[in-house]
Amino acid sequence: MFNIDHKKVRKNKQTAVNQTKVIVFKTVQAVQNYVNEQKAKGLSIGFVPTMGALHAGHISLINKSVQETNICICSIFVNPTQFNNITDLEKYPKTADADIKLLLEAGCHVLFMPPVEEMYPTGLLKNTEDFGLITTLLEGEKRPGHFDGVKTIVAKLFDIVKPTKTFFGQKDYQQVMVVAELIKRHYPTIQLCIEPTVRHEDGLAMSSRNVRLNKMQREEATAISKAMFYIQENWGLHTIEQLVQNALIFIGANKSLQVEYFNVYNSETLELLSGNSSAHLKAVILAAVFCGEVRLIDNLIIKP
Ligand code: AMP
Repeated sequence: MFNIDHKKVRKNKQTAVNQTKVIVFKTVQAVQNYVNEQKAKGLSIGFVPTMGALHAGHISLINKSVQETNICICSIFVNPTQFNNITDLEKYPKTADADIKLLLEAGCHVLFMPPVEEMYPTGLLKNTEDFGLITTLLEGEKRPGHFDGVKTIVAKLFDIVKPTKTFFGQKDYQQVMVVAELIKRHYPTIQLCIEPTVRHEDGLAMSSRNVRLNKMQREEATAISKAMFYIQENWGLHTIEQLVQNALIFIGANKSLQVEYFNVYNSETLELLSGNSSAHLKAVILAAVFCGEVRLIDNLIIKP
C-alpha cells in the first residue's frame, strides 16, 4: 500500500538490530536504557514523534529515518496538553495494532508508547517559554496554548530519546517552525529533517483526522488543496488578493467547508502578504478549514 523500500529496510536490518518485531516500550526508563545501549555501540538514533493512527505521511518519515540512521524510534502519544478542544482529544483515532504492523513493515525498530502519567508524572504542566510570533499567530491564535503543549512534549521526548536526527512533516508548517526554534535554543546537536506532505491521489493531505470525515465531507475536503494548487498555478498572473478571493469562492461552494484562515504569508515571518504576487519570493499558503466538525490544516510553499 505504501512506498516501502525493502532493500533499504534489509540494509538497515543488517546494520542495526535483528528486525522481526518492533520493540514496544511503555516506560521512560526502558527507552532510556535502550538508547544508552545503542549509543554506546556508536549507533545513530532517528526519532519520529507521532500521535498514532499512522498513515503514509507518517510512514514517509519512518522510511527516511530508516534510511538515514541506524536505529529508528517512533513515539505514539496523544499529547493532552496540545489539545485546546476536548472533543478533538476524545475523538482522536487510536489504531495501535495497525500502527505496529505498519511500523514493522517500514523497518522501524522501536515504538515508545507511554501512558499519560509517564510523560506528565506531576500533572499537565506546560512549558510557556516565549517563542514570539510563530506561536501566537494563526494556529497559535486559533488554538491557544497549543504550541506550549507541543514545545513541552517535544522537549520531554528529546530529553528521553536523545536523537541524532528527528523527522517532522511539513504538513504541520508552524509546528516545524516551533520545533526548529526549540532545537536552535535547547537541542543544538539534534538535526531536524523536514519531509514533504504526503497527499492522497485527489490532493487531500493525509491526516489521522481524515477518517472522521463522512463520504461527502471527504469529497468536499479536496477543495482545500485544489484551491492552494490554483494559487500556485496562477502565481504572478494576479494580485494575491485576487488569487485568495478566487480560492475562497471555490472552497465556499462546498457546504461542509468553513474556512478559519486561508491566506498567503511570508514563509519565514508569517506576515500576511498582499499586492503583486510575483514580487514575493518567500510565500506560503497556510490554511485551516473546518470540514463538518473536523478541523483540517494544510499548506503549500509557493514556488515563484
Ligand atoms: P501527528 O501524528 O499528526 O502528530 O504527526 C506526526 C508527524 O507526522 C508530524 O511531524 C507531522 O507533520 C507528520 N505528518 C502528518 N501528516 C503528514 C503528511 N500528510 N505528510 C507528511 N508528514 C505528515
